[in-house]
Amino acid sequence: MQIIHPLADMTNWSREVIAKGETIALVPTMGYFHEGHMSLMRLADQLADQVVVSLFVNALQFGPSEDLSRYPRNLDRDAMMAEKSNVDILFIPTDDDMYSPDFNTRIRVDGITDTLCGKQRPGHFEGVTTVVAKLFNIIKPHYAVFGQKDFQQLSVIRKMVRDLNWDITIVAHPIVREEDGLAMSSRNAYLTGEERRKALCLFKAIQYAKTRFADGVNDASLIKAEIRDIISAISGVNIDYIAVVDKNTLSDQEMIDSQSVLALAARVGTTRLIDNCFMEKDSEAGN
Ligand code: AMP
Repeated sequence: MQIIHPLADMTNWSREVIAKGETIALVPTMGYFHEGHMSLMRLADQLADQVVVSLFVNALQFGPSEDLSRYPRNLDRDAMMAEKSNVDILFIPTDDDMYSPDFNTRIRVDGITDTLCGKQRPGHFEGVTTVVAKLFNIIKPHYAVFGQKDFQQLSVIRKMVRDLNWDITIVAHPIVREEDGLAMSSRNAYLTGEERRKALCLFKAIQYAKTRFADGVNDASLIKAEIRDIISAISGVNIDYIAVVDKNTLSDQEMIDSQSVLALAARVGTTRLIDNCFMEKDSEAGN
């Protein structure tokens, strides 16, 4: 595995690979890898000849009071984990290289960014789409792999790619969970032991909702109220949103059907966690 920092070196590498007729799969990340990231890398390895993983903690997608300065980092460990997952290039651009002082362009996807995390984190998705657009142009991948864990992000990226006619196939990977069901996240590192136990209520709420739906309950308001009670019963866990939305349009749904996604965001102590699931009767709990 090769580690590349300069943007120009990354673009030159891609140009040579493409000239040889080979394909590239990109996995954009912010580092501090866990098994979820590694699963995306392995999927990328199945899709294309070459796998590029970008590692960039993108300041543009963090709000002023969010956790940019304390976002967990461990480059040596990340490099080892990427190498183990058959990654060809670990691309680690610098902040200055990505955003020159006169950087003045933003990519904004309207509509589907007005809800869920977009509503709670103004400017967040604009930061995400801007950095992903830059990565697409620098690396020129044929495939890009994103996790279903960030369900709205995946929808926003798909929309951007369609709207801007990028010839890139967006591939989704299901949510990877800890043994007890907690969705893996770099931010889980912030949790104390007690918070870690409390955080499980998100997965429990998802499982409960899926069971209710499988039993024939399809009233979204009812199920949302029930899982609000489950989560609110845990002290120190504060709900940001509980939503049932159409998986394509992200608009709120009154009646749950096979197109529905249940999406949750909550703060456990000071750590903001998200989780979601498809409300398909035969899908695995949590995915
Ligand atoms: P991050 O480094 O948190 O920005 O995540 C990089 C990519 O990994 C994104 O596409 C995430 O959706 C994905 N990802 C993070 N955690 C998980 C998980 N538990 N399961 C599946 N994908 C994940």
